[in-house]
Amino acid sequence: MQFIMDCLNVNENGNLEMSGCDLVKIAKEFGTPAYVVDDATIRNNCKKYNDSIKKYYDGNGRAIYASKALSCKYMYKLVNEEGFGIDVVSGGELYAALSAGFPADKIYFHGNNKTPDELKYALENNIGRIMVDNALELSRINEIAGELKIKANIIIRITPGIDASTHDFIKTGQIDSKFGAVLETGEADDLVALAVKAENVCIKGFHCHIGSQIFDLEPFEHAAEVMMNFIGDVKEKYGIITDELDLGGGFGIRYTEDDNPSDLGEYMNAVSKVVKRVAKERDVKLPFIIVEPGRSMVAEAGLTLYSVGTIKNIPNIRTYVSIDGGMTDNPRYILYQSRYTAVSAENPLAPQDKTVTIAGKCCESGDLIGKDMPLNDVKVGEIIAILSTGAYNYSMSSNYNRVPRPPIIMIKDGKPTVAVRRETYDDMLKCDMF
Ligand SMILES: *Cc1c(COP(=O)(O)O)cnc(C)c1O
Repeated sequence: MQFIMDCLNVNENGNLEMSGCDLVKIAKEFGTPAYVVDDATIRNNCKKYNDSIKKYYDGNGRAIYASKALSCKYMYKLVNEEGFGIDVVSGGELYAALSAGFPADKIYFHGNNKTPDELKYALENNIGRIMVDNALELSRINEIAGELKIKANIIIRITPGIDASTHDFIKTGQIDSKFGAVLETGEADDLVALAVKAENVCIKGFHCHIGSQIFDLEPFEHAAEVMMNFIGDVKEKYGIITDELDLGGGFGIRYTEDDNPSDLGEYMNAVSKVVKRVAKERDVKLPFIIVEPGRSMVAEAGLTLYSVGTIKNIPNIRTYVSIDGGMTDNPRYILYQSRYTAVSAENPLAPQDKTVTIAGKCCESGDLIGKDMPLNDVKVGEIIAILSTGAYNYSMSSNYNRVPRPPIIMIKDGKPTVAVRRETYDDMLKCDMF
């Protein structure tokens, strides 16, 4: 049996297992809901990125993990061990990374509205790069760096005007975006002019990120081409030679069998060809390439275990299977109507001949894991797994309805380890002052 997550199998008891660990046993030992994540799959993904940069671009680059996909101290430690940098998008993520001992010089700080406090925090800690999103932010960085008597190393975020085919809410490369300086309108050029004049910043390079869950290579190649030509224009106009080109993240993953992402190696191969060609055409130096994978690093490494609580059949309309979690641990359906794959952890080989709507326990009708999903004939109490929930689940979770967050159980060397413990009711009241 092939599952969309490579780390899954069926063991001799007929239960679903992840890298040798029985998931029904894990549900019994740690309770449900629980996120279960495979350490080896993530390390393997790190290796794929590192190897592809070596193979197709002579190692002249770096992969940095977009830590918003799954931010916890375990992850910062893991990717550091694998030689990755990271990107953070808030003071909180920066704090988590520094708390995990992540080397400051390999931290990249993103965001369209970093507050002055966050910028100061980042600059005081000498983090590697601050990605500049707009002119106002540039002037703030310049001012704070001046006060601290340091030079801020910046990378300027460009919106290259590329419309990748993905969900509207996860597109970022088109003109109508809250992120970055738009190329076509001249905003990008103006921002560079300002940065050239700013005394306390040093322009290290340029960045773009065109969206998320993208399967085709073509938009990435297109972005690389546009960015390299922009670097050529900047060199001609301002005489500045930058070293770094950050091409963002956005590589798609498999949520269902219909998803067909490109191979990671193919991505680096395709993009590096474009970069090398345009470098020659425009007579610019080959840049140090940065890639920022988030989802593709962790999504297929994780699943969520739930217990079936109630089953409601509305004849000729729909069957609702309600689980003991929902939008609080996985808000992706309510945000984007995302699709997922469900598998019974106890009966993974049973025919999926029912069509059910898997519902959460919150007081929202939109609180679903998915509508009309194939599933076996599950019973009350059965443990089911929702696959490919490693990215943007825990990190997007909430305490709506005062539902505590599930733990993250990491599978490492065939053994489960609690990376993040389950929240308690007391944890949720920690900030209540009365
Ligand atoms: C979210 C984000 C990423 C990661 O995107 P994925 O689709 O998860 O790979 C990378 N760079 C930036 C700037 C982002 O905002």
